[in-house]
This record gives sequence, C-alpha cells and structure tokens, in this order.
Amino acid sequence: MQIRKKDLTFLGILKIISKTAWTKFKWKVVLMLICALVVALLETLAPKIVQLIIDNLEKLASPSPLDLKLFAFLLGSLFIVGISMTIFRFWVNRISFYIATKVEDYWRYRVLYHFFQLPASWHDNHDSGEFAGKIDRGASAIWTIIHELFGNNFTVYTITLIVVLIIAFISFPLAAIILVIPIPIYIFVTYIVSKKIAKRQNYINKIHHIAAKVLYDAAGNVRSVKAFGTELREAKNHDKIWTKLHKLEYKEEELWLTQTLLQTGIETVMRIILLIVSIWQIYKGVYTIGFLVLLMSYQQLTFAPLRELNSIFTRIRRVVGRSKHLFEILSEEDPLKDSRNAITISKLKNKIIFKDVSFSYSGGFNAIKNLNTEFKKGKVIAIVGRSGAGKSTFSNLLLRFYDPDKGQILWDGIDLRNIKRYYLRKQIAYIPQETSLFNRSIGDNITYGKIDYNKKDIINAANLAAAHDFIMKTPKGYKSIIGERGIRLSGGQRQRIGIARALFTGASVVIMDESTSHLDSESELAIQQAIRKIQREKTLIVIAHRLSTIINADKIIVMDQGKIVAEGNHKKLLKSCSIYKRLYQLQVKKETTF
Ligand code: ADP
Repeated sequence: MQIRKKDLTFLGILKIISKTAWTKFKWKVVLMLICALVVALLETLAPKIVQLIIDNLEKLASPSPLDLKLFAFLLGSLFIVGISMTIFRFWVNRISFYIATKVEDYWRYRVLYHFFQLPASWHDNHDSGEFAGKIDRGASAIWTIIHELFGNNFTVYTITLIVVLIIAFISFPLAAIILVIPIPIYIFVTYIVSKKIAKRQNYINKIHHIAAKVLYDAAGNVRSVKAFGTELREAKNHDKIWTKLHKLEYKEEELWLTQTLLQTGIETVMRIILLIVSIWQIYKGVYTIGFLVLLMSYQQLTFAPLRELNSIFTRIRRVVGRSKHLFEILSEEDPLKDSRNAITISKLKNKIIFKDVSFSYSGGFNAIKNLNTEFKKGKVIAIVGRSGAGKSTFSNLLLRFYDPDKGQILWDGIDLRNIKRYYLRKQIAYIPQETSLFNRSIGDNITYGKIDYNKKDIINAANLAAAHDFIMKTPKGYKSIIGERGIRLSGGQRQRIGIARALFTGASVVIMDESTSHLDSESELAIQQAIRKIQREKTLIVIAHRLSTIINADKIIVMDQGKIVAEGNHKKLLKSCSIYKRLYQLQVKKETTF
C-alpha cells in the first residue's frame, strides 16, 4: 500500500489501518463480526427473559407444574445467555487482539525498513531519538486503533446499538423514540469535546518527541555528560519537559471529565423522562411492570454503547495523531531508489571515473566542484587536503549516499545511478573515521552484513587487519561483547575491527577514512601493515589525515575548497604542489614537536 502525505487525514488514517486488517485477515475479521453479532443478540435477549420472569411472577403464588417448568426454563436460559455472552465476548477480544498485534508489527516493520532505506540526506536532517519515539508511540497507536475499532468495544457496541434500536422500533415504536433522542445530542457533545482533546493531544505528541530526542541525545553522549559534570543538569532538563507534559495531560484529563459529566447529565434526564412516561402508561394499564424493566434495560443498552462509542471515538482521535507521525515517515520519498532498469555489478574490472562531478549538501555551497579523476583497479589512491576540503564528500558520493548534482561517477563505464545500490555497496567496503561498532560480540561485528561465512575467514580477515592477536587477549576472544559503540576497546582496536570487517565483506574497493584521533604507535603501525596487505588484493582509497601512512600511494589527490588542486605521487607533489608541501611540513613538524 502506497502512503501519500495527502492521505494522512483522520479518516484517511483509519482507512489505511482498517484496510490493512481487512486485506490481511479477511476471514478473521468476518469471524469476529459474527461473534460480535451473537453477543449483541444475546445482550438484547437477556432483558426479554427478565421481562417474562417479572410478568409471570404472580403465578408463583400457586404454581402449576407447567409454571414451575417455565420458570426453570427461563432461569436456565438466563444463565446460558450470560455464559454464552462471556464466551463470545472473549473470542471477539481474542481475535481483535491478534489482528491488532499483527497489523502493528506489519507497519512497524515497514516503517523501520523504509527508515533504513531513506537517503543519508534525510538522516542528516532527522534525529534518531525523535524517530525512535515516533515509531514506538505510532505503532502502539495502531494497536489501540485496531483494538478499539474491531475489538470488544466498537464492533460489539455498534452492533448492539443497531440491534436494540431495530427490536425497539418493531416492538414498541413510541417508546423507542425516547431511546433515540439522546443519540444526536451525544454525537454533538462528543464531536466538540473530542476536537479539543485531539488538538491538545497533537501538542502533547510534539512534546513527547522532544522528550525522546533530548533523552537519546544525553544518553548517547553519557561520557561527555560525565566529563563535564552535567548529570544533574541533564536530569533536570528532562524533568522540566516531563513536568510540562504532565501539566498538559492533566488539562486534557479535565476535558475528558467534562465529556463524561455532560454524558451523565443527558443520560439522567432521559432516564427520568422514560420513567415518568412509563409510570403514566402503567397507571393507564398500557404497560406492565415487566415491560418497564425491559424498557429501562434497553435504555441502558442504548446508553452503554453510546457512551463507549463516544469515548472510543475520542480515544481514537487522540491516538490517530501518533500514527500519523509514523505514516509520515513512510510517505517520505527515497530519491536514490533503484531505477527499474538498474543492474547488478561484480568486482571492479578496470576503473572508477569521476567525470565533471559537482555536489552541494541541501542546496548550500558546492562541497565538490567540477571534479575529474579516476581510481584504477588494484591501486592505492590517497585523498588529502585541509579539513572541510571535500574529502569525505568524495566517499559519500562513491557509496551513493548522495547523487551528484552535476556530472557522473562511472563504475567500469556504468553510471552509479544505473547500478542497484545493494550490489554497489557489496563491492565497496567503507571504514569510517570513527568505526561504528555494534554492542555485540567481536565476531558478530566482523561478520556484520554477511549471513553465510566460514569461521576461518573471520580469523583470516582479523589477521589481515592486524587484529587477531589483541582479540585473542580479550576475555572471550571472538565472543567478547565490546559494549555500546565498542566502548570496551581502544580507538586503534576499534579501527582494526573496522578494517577486518571491511576485508571480510569481500568487496573489491576499500575506502578508508583514516582516523584523525591520535592512535598509539602500535595501532598506527598495525594499521599501516593492514593497508599494505590490503594493497595487494584490492583497490584502496585512503582519505588521509596522516600523510605518513600514504607516502607510498600510487596516486595522491590533493583537494582544496572542493576542487582537485594537484595529483601525483609523493615525490612529485612535494616538488610541485605548495598545499601538499605545507601539509606535509606541518605534519612532520607536529610529529617531531610532540
Ligand atoms: P573533509 O572530509 O575534507 O573534512 P567534507 O567532505 O566532510 O570535508 O566536507 C566538505 C564541506 O561540506 C564542508 O564545508 C562541510 O561543512 C560540508 N558538509 C559535510 N557534510 C555535510 C552535511 N552532511 N551537510 C551539510 N554540509 C556538510
């Protein structure tokens, strides 16, 4: 089902959710409706039996055996009706619970998958904490809507209301009018109050998202919080948001109370009117006492569903806003989606060419301007330049996190835009500056992204990345859990795990965004060795911050302000490129000073 922004109105969202339930669980929905219908019929049958019992009470003064049999039958029926109602209600609830859970899972899964597929430019502008809040609250809102709509409440009560009114209009049309009068008043009151509640709820939802964002941001940076001694400030920040939230929720609760108060008022007035009319009719000998009890029960059967339907409507209105945020994520287009004729690729056979490529982030200045260069198979190419020169943008474009605004990037002559992203990323292994590791075992981190593998290959990759020895020194070797974002490892060790992971993928091109952090000399040596080993097997693109590691590169690209200012090997550039010479001299000076 395609989700478009313009479909995300109150009714549109209800339609999306109920359509999912209907298309996926048609037979279960039908079965649930049948059970609900049975409950409604039984609900109306019970007062009828009570009426018969009351109207025949006088026979108990001197009962014949037939009268006794009739009473036994009526009491037995009342018991069976009561038990059957409970059983059928249970089934309505059970089926609705099942459908609600499945539909919630379905949308949660779809949104998550879409979220991961959305382009890097989208992620740059969205907060992951806010998203986590949106998906959690949005998905549980879907559950609530389904359970309210299909479950015990809505279905049973709607059917009960219809059945009661039909029976009432057929059996006693005049009295039935009194039953119908409160319906439009109820609807009017609910419409007005629920609109106010929904408006307030939308505001509350926004604050909830801010709360999630603030919490994730602080929790994700717990080390900085500790280092700067801001634990109390962060906790207070959060507390402030929640105090505001609860104040708003308290006010919302007041609106609920107003709604209930108005409903109770309408019910009491209508009860009194029915009682006066009925007593007057009994006095005239038109109604019996049993009939009065039946009328009062039917009035109760009309009020109960009305009350429930109104509060269900308000509750649904309240949570629809939450699911809207969830569906909004789905309505985001992926501009980098594979085209229909996109093709697969295998290992790099010849070269990657950047042809007159220009690119800017979110329509700002050009991070890369008219870039022309090539990366030949099996070579080591380094990209150097000052911070902000456009080096990382280079790899972002090559990995197709973004598409160039102008020009082409060609993989063996094929424009990246015509290659299936999955296959492109299988061929390019990326080792970022800050290797992002998962809170899983070392082995799981190295094999991340691969399902079928040989255990020997893990050790092989770790050896190539000069990581095997230190892994074996950890308490559980490859099974050691490394903590959130690899916190239990040093920067150099994390980098080496990142290299092992990249090598394990079997990609033919490796992009290594060298760490700017000051690695210990052992780690640096290990990484240099790893680069040398990779060199023999793959095309290696090194975004270099420490020139010492790339002196032997086949080609060094020097960048400045988004442009290539020179290309060549170390010796040539030292002679001909002033920027390179300065970068090199600065580094040599820095390394000898410290
Ligand atoms: P380098 O890797 O050489 O330090 P980058 O390629 O990261 O440089 O950045 C080039 C320019 O693009 C910089 O001016 C930087 O501020 C900008 N930039 C980088 N990433 C983003 C982004 N995600 N959104 C907006 N601007 C960005």
